[in-house]
Parts: sequence; structure tokens; C-alpha cells
Amino acid sequence: MGAGPAGLYGADALLKRGAQVDVFEAQFAPFGLVRYGVAPDHQKIKKTQVVFEKILHRPHLRLFANVRIGTDVTVPQLLDHYDQILVTMGSSGARALQVPGESLPGSLSATEFVNWYNSHPDFVDLAPVLDHPVAVVVGMGNVAIDVARILLRDPEDLDKTDISPVAVRALEKSRVNQVVLLARRGPNQAAFDQKEVRELAALPGIEVGVAGYIPKRRTPMSEFIASFPRANQLGGKKRVILWFCASPVEILGQTRVEAIRIEKNHLVQSAARMRAVGTGEYTKLECGLVLRAIGYHGTPLPDVSFSQETGTIPNDEGRVLDAPHGQVVRGLYVAGWIKRGPTGLIGTNKSCAVETVARMEEDLDQVGPERDPDAIVRLLRQRGVRFITEQEWTVLDAHETREGAARGRVRDKLSSLEQALKVLELRGQMGVA
Ligand code: NAP
Repeated sequence: MGAGPAGLYGADALLKRGAQVDVFEAQFAPFGLVRYGVAPDHQKIKKTQVVFEKILHRPHLRLFANVRIGTDVTVPQLLDHYDQILVTMGSSGARALQVPGESLPGSLSATEFVNWYNSHPDFVDLAPVLDHPVAVVVGMGNVAIDVARILLRDPEDLDKTDISPVAVRALEKSRVNQVVLLARRGPNQAAFDQKEVRELAALPGIEVGVAGYIPKRRTPMSEFIASFPRANQLGGKKRVILWFCASPVEILGQTRVEAIRIEKNHLVQSAARMRAVGTGEYTKLECGLVLRAIGYHGTPLPDVSFSQETGTIPNDEGRVLDAPHGQVVRGLYVAGWIKRGPTGLIGTNKSCAVETVARMEEDLDQVGPERDPDAIVRLLRQRGVRFITEQEWTVLDAHETREGAARGRVRDKLSSLEQALKVLELRGQMGVA
């Protein structure tokens, strides 16, 4: 359930054990975070899509895309049709800062912004405000670095990728020339990979500088951070500032974001974690856009238990539980971010899915009589669900790459179900499967 990395790695492991697998996906297109999360200028990572394409076209796998579980069909209905269900719906929500002003126009989650530039159908109309020279990104992980890079990178370069053309036009008109990343803790606690910052600093016309606290104790990370100039020494046109020990306490503005109030922190060792504690010293920074890149958060699936605290489905090595530390729910399993939380790289989902599939295999003695594979097709049709099959996805994929190539781009993504259905209808009229 969910045709992203965890779902397709899970499907692959199940197919290798001789299972028949149906993959359900809410969007009309598969590949989840690879399509809608990975930055468009990271085409090397996006190429993992080839691996997932292969899995998708294996015998004994059927794709049912454009099916929303919980509305088009429920989990109890699916449990009536399948021996085992693997939930791999990821973490599509974003954590909230819980500071005043967070809902002002111009304050967005990085997740929304990332989905927008990746042509996610639900975010096409996001229209982020890019009319102020300063944008603030809260968080110091890889997503924060991704959005800073996309905000400042030459739109002409981005246009060669599969980025949304709407985003390219908006970025061409953008006035943003300074992106300030706020880390509540110090350099030694930064969550990004150094190579991501090196890539950013190596881009033509972009300077990286640091502000706030730099620890005296030398570590590879603190030395890496100290190798950048202080922010006030930067003179270039486009600047990224990594500001440490700084927390947003309020987003200010009358009808939209106009500034952010920042509190300086100091670090306090508590148990295994270094904690940020406010010093009561505040600064105001004028800006027009605030992006929260403080982590993804799972959303609940109707009829399935959920921990609001962790944003995950309670589970024991992938077996779904009816509550945290509760009883195992027969036939229901989980893998990927919705199992373990929003961390790790694409490949991490492989071992995660394989662990769950091993539990599914152990439980095969609980499986009932043989099922009719056409029953689910009949149910979806009865309910008027226009699902997209793997053959139809092949048509859409070919259309996107062909249209992209014609414009010197990697791919021109279809950004709505209506567009996708139109392509399929035209191909049908031309008699092409
Ligand atoms: P992340 O790595 O968990 O980083 C989240 C950042 O937000 C941390 O700096 C964290 O600081 C901060 N934060 C959390 N709560 C906060 C709060 N209330 N106030 C202020 N700051 C707060 O999350 P992510 O960047 O969303 O990335 C998610 C996963 O995807 C990661 O595993 C990442 O490596 C991966 N990813 C990889 C790539 C790539 O390889 N190019 C690209 C994108 C994403 P604290 O440490 O203080 O909590």
C-alpha cells in the first residue's frame, strides 16, 4: 500500500518468495519520494527509479494507482480480499514549529515547497511568495539544504531537469538572494551530510557563511563548519547562512510573513542528547518566506492504530499492533517511514521492508483459503474508482520522457490526474496500448 521505495522493495521481497502482489498507490504515478521528494537537480538519486520500474514490471505484480485507501476502499475491505497487507504509505505530513504566526501566508513546510517544485498534483497551486530577498529555512538537515539550493540555483540549470515548469517560472522571477538556515543546536548536532553543503558551496555564484555558535572542541563537523567564512564577511550576490544555536520563537507580519523573531540558545548536556536552551536574547530578521524543514510526520490511516507522538503505526518488527505495546493485528504489516519514522536514505527502506517481509513469511500458517484476484477489480469498478495499471503507467512514463526530451529536459511531469487520463485517452484513440 504505497508505491514508494518501501512499498516496491517490499513487493520485490514478496515476489521473490513466490507471492502474488497488488500494489496500491494514492497518486496516479508510482515511486513516492523518488518522484516527489528527491530534489530535481539530484538526478543521480532519481535514477534509482530504474530499479523500481523493474520491480513494477515483474510478473505477478499488479499496480492499482490513483486509489486512496481509507476513502476509495477501506483497510477492512482490503483485509477481506488479501491474505496479508503491507502498509508503506510513508510520512507525507510535516512537523509543526508551534510558534505564533506559523499559519501566516509565506510560512510553509519544506514538504509543501518540495512537493510544489516536484509537480506533486496536490501542490501545483502552492505559489510560494518569493518577492523578498531573504528566505528563512528552519532546520539543518538534508531537506533544508535541498530547499536552500533550489531557491538560489540558476533556474536555467534547473530547467534541464524534471522540475515543475511552474516552479522554474516562479524561480526566474524570484527576488530571494539570501537563505538563512536556523539550527536550534550547534554544528556538532547538524543533521545534514557534509557533501550536501559542499555541493551547495561549489555552485557558481553561491557563497556559504556561518553565524552563531561555533564550538571550541574540535570535531570533523565543527572544523568543517569553521572552514566557511563568518556571514558578515560574505560579499557575493547569493548567500546561504548557516546560523547555529538559533530558534524561531515567532513569525511576524500583518497579513503575510514580514519577519521572524529568533532567540539565541546555549547548549546543555542532558542524558544522551545535547539540548538547546533559550538565553532570553532575541534578534529580529526581516524576511518574506519561512520554510520549516524540521522533519516529516506520518498521517493516520483510517481503521489502523497510530501514534501521534512518533507519527508512525505501532508495530513489532513490522507486525502492526492495535496500540503502542498492544496486540498484533492479524494480516497487517508496515514498512518504511510509517514503520520507523522519517529517517534514512532510499536504500534504508530495503532492509526495513525485508525485515517486515520475513515476519510476513513466518505468519503464512495463518493464511486462509485461496482468493479470487478479480474480486478487488470488481470492487474498485463498483465503487467507480478509475485505477491506473502498470501498463498505463508505462504509457504515461513514455509520454513524460518524450515531452521532456523535446524541450531538452529530463522529463516533463504530468501534474494532474486529468492530464494523465487525457494522455491515456489519446493513446487509446490512436490504438496504442
Ligand atoms: P532531519 O534530518 O531529521 O533534520 C531535521 C532538522 O530539523 C534537524 O536539524 C533538527 O534539529 C531540526 N528540528 C527538528 N525539530 C525542530 C524544532 N522544533 N525547531 C527547530 N529545529 C528543529 O530531517 P530532514 O532534513 O527532513 O530529512 C529527512 C530524511 O531524509 C533524513 O534521513 C535525510 O538524510 C533524508 N534526506 C536525504 C537527502 C539526500 O541524501 N540528499 C535529501 C533530503 C532528505 P535537532 O537535531 O536539534 O532536532
